[in-house]
Amino acid sequence: MAIKTPRQYLESLKDGRVVYLNGERVPDVTAHPVCKVTNDWVAIDYIMSNDPRYQDLLTDLDEDGERVSFALQPQRTREDLLRLREVVKLWARVCFGKPSGAKFVAKDGLNAVTVVAPRVDNKYGTNYAANVEAYRRHLQKNDLAFAMGLTDVKGDRNLRPSQQVQHKDFYVRIVEERSDGIIVSGAKTHISQAPACNEIIVAPCRAMQKEDAAYAVAFGIPLNTPGITMICAQPEITADSDLFDHPISKAVYINDATIIFDNVFIPNERIFLKGEWEFAGQVAYMFANFHRLSAETYKAMELELFTGAAVLMAEYNGVEKKAHVREKLTWLVMYTEAVETLGLAAVEHCVSERGSDLVYPNPMIANICKFYFADNWHQATKYIQDIGGGIIVTAPSYKDYTNPETHALMEKYFAGSARTSTENRLRMVKLVRDLTSCYEDVLTIHAEGSLEAQKLSIVQLADWERYKGAAMRAAGIAGAGENPLFDGLPQFPPAL
Ligand SMILES: Cc1cc2nc3c(=O)[nH]c(=O)nc-3n(C[C@H](O)[C@H](O)[C@H](O)COP(=O)(O)OP(=O)(O)OC[C@H]3O[C@@H](n4cnc5c(N)ncnc54)[C@H](O)[C@@H]3O)c2cc1C
Repeated sequence: MAIKTPRQYLESLKDGRVVYLNGERVPDVTAHPVCKVTNDWVAIDYIMSNDPRYQDLLTDLDEDGERVSFALQPQRTREDLLRLREVVKLWARVCFGKPSGAKFVAKDGLNAVTVVAPRVDNKYGTNYAANVEAYRRHLQKNDLAFAMGLTDVKGDRNLRPSQQVQHKDFYVRIVEERSDGIIVSGAKTHISQAPACNEIIVAPCRAMQKEDAAYAVAFGIPLNTPGITMICAQPEITADSDLFDHPISKAVYINDATIIFDNVFIPNERIFLKGEWEFAGQVAYMFANFHRLSAETYKAMELELFTGAAVLMAEYNGVEKKAHVREKLTWLVMYTEAVETLGLAAVEHCVSERGSDLVYPNPMIANICKFYFADNWHQATKYIQDIGGGIIVTAPSYKDYTNPETHALMEKYFAGSARTSTENRLRMVKLVRDLTSCYEDVLTIHAEGSLEAQKLSIVQLADWERYKGAAMRAAGIAGAGENPLFDGLPQFPPAL
């Protein structure tokens, strides 16, 4: 089949999946008005892959001459990673900063198991790399939308998976091994757009120890597999919300669902890790490497929109030339461009391992970039909220604006600068409200890993000896020259 049409994609979701939303079972996600928002956003992937203007970027021809999604190809060169960035940028620009989700998150999971599976095979003689490749072909040939299930519900965060007290299913685990496969139970949570995907890749979210071996499990299966229940994230919108009041949240309901696995059968050929506990952390870490790059790429697109909203809000309020506003706008430009530049640097300095023909983003730079944008997000929202004024949360709804009894009053009293219309000012106010919602705040902090996760990686990756060598040399402490970077440098200050 290769590239699907949007219609074929939507039809493929009518597969008996078990989905709950707002207290009710959703018998058909394609017929539900709120689920439809997610489906339509995911469908953008299919709309664009069928559009000749974007096909060269978004698709490749496979060995059979069939068009397949580039996002599903393994990344073998810096150019592949650069192209992947352009793909994510395009998806994000089209969808108001939120890349369409058919492959966006899970491609990073596929990349992670692609890198780690051969390492496990080398040590244990397993067949996981072949399983991953067969799965990749299955995804490509059927152009499937797939989700990434990394984050477990986790229970008591102070306890490892096998130490949990209330029950043993806080992390997805193997409950039974059979000759033809395994049975798994447990739950993954915050899994973006899963109810609008065909398949899910499941992998461990943390490093494991020997006692946690049952939790060191990775696989890929259809989301209508018996035993899977999806409970949707509480939506910000209702069926009758409109785009004027919710320009982003009515267009993009990411639906980060909780997915319960109740004795789900996974056939042998879909298993990518089965008890090799010392590789669990490697899968999680490699997913994070790729996904932080994806995150900073789309975030730069979202920040472009965000900074644009701040400038326009300032203009519509007539304050764009005020000193404190200019200062905040300048800061927003620096923030936006720094995220773009750091993301690019992570690709320019990508890493290739000895014995592997794959590349991945530079982990140090990718982690710094993710931390930088997440850590500064609330500063950015503080600035845009300050510039916008209280109207961001107190403006009446679109229904009041279009009600003949209140329309003229709103036209008159909600006007700002005469250089724009009341309607434009209200539209920008609603955009800023959506951009600075609690959902956006928490997404920026936690999606793609919490702040501490990046710090942990940065501390582990830091070249402490280089830093120490530079300081020892300047302080005149012996031993700095043992570091090759400082060995043999000219004496300074010179003895002239
Ligand atoms: C909008 C959104 C979309 C997402 N999409 C996906 C997705 O598609 N797929 C997916 O797999 N995941 C997804 N995630 C999950 C995301 O990766 C996690 O939210 C993130 O890793 C944090 O985990 P948590 O939410 O369980 O928070 P917690 O782990 O509960 O963290 C809360 C706080 O506790 C701290 N903490 C937790 N454990 C420890 C510890 N042992 N030691 C010290 N401090 C600790 C954390 O650092 C943090 O400060 C998404 C999240 C969001 C918000």
